[in-house]
Amino acid sequence: MSTVSSDVCVDIRSVHKFYGDFQVLFDVNLEIAKGEVCVVLGPSGSGKSTLLRCINHLETIAAGRIYVNGDLIGYSERNGKLYCLAEEAIAAQRRNIGMVFQRFNLFGHMTAIQNVMAGPVLVKGHSRRCAELLAMSLLERVGLADRARQYPSQLSGGQQQRVAIARAMAMQPDVLLFDEPTSALDPELVGEVLETMKDLARTGMTMIVVTHEVGFAREVADRVVFMDQGRIVEKGAPESVLDNPRNPRTQAFLSKVL
Ligand code: ADP
Ligand code: MG
Repeated sequence: MSTVSSDVCVDIRSVHKFYGDFQVLFDVNLEIAKGEVCVVLGPSGSGKSTLLRCINHLETIAAGRIYVNGDLIGYSERNGKLYCLAEEAIAAQRRNIGMVFQRFNLFGHMTAIQNVMAGPVLVKGHSRRCAELLAMSLLERVGLADRARQYPSQLSGGQQQRVAIARAMAMQPDVLLFDEPTSALDPELVGEVLETMKDLARTGMTMIVVTHEVGFAREVADRVVFMDQGRIVEKGAPESVLDNPRNPRTQAFLSKVL
């Protein structure tokens, strides 16, 4: 049974998270609408990666709830009590949540198209033929149709990251999480990856993007969230958070990155 309105994709409610005794997230609340692009900014160590990892249950939360399309992540709830889901059920939830990391994490022994096909064939059980057609259309979309048969080592960092985006899309997720997708790239390769992400945003993909690319946030984000020391200290339209930040910590951070 869903307790979330149907236009909400990701609903993060009162999430607290600890690493041992260290509290890394404090009462985080965030709703992401379907088709929304939400950019998460904040200094290193503020809990941005942890928050993304909680959304697909790579991390366990101490309190709160996270829903993706009305599905409670990691647990089933009966009579107000939470019961851990079986590994299989968690894996099924994760299939709907794509993730793109700072490092491209492509399979080095597979070509670009094999990387994109792997999920649909191995996890979803699609036929190779069907997966190949889908993979090719995604490689076209990220502008790499002509590189389909090349191995990651034959591709630039920007091309590898675009393959990683196509691979995440191949699972047809409800939401895509990006954790500093351009941070490991040489500066001249950042633009092509941001363009690809912009393109995805235009197609209505729901995206949560952790990045220091303030220009991307300004141009593409529907909403910008600023985190500091495990808390969301400011959220709103890009122009209000970026141009008129109210929180002193947001102001201090932006004065350094802008
Ligand atoms: P960000 O992505 O904003 O840089 P992180 O979510 O990676 O922040 O980390 C937030 C805080 O949690 C940091 O202080 C970091 O050192 C700590 N941390 C992250 N991962 C772990 C872990 N697995 N165990 C213990 N502490 C961690
Ligand atoms: Mg991080």
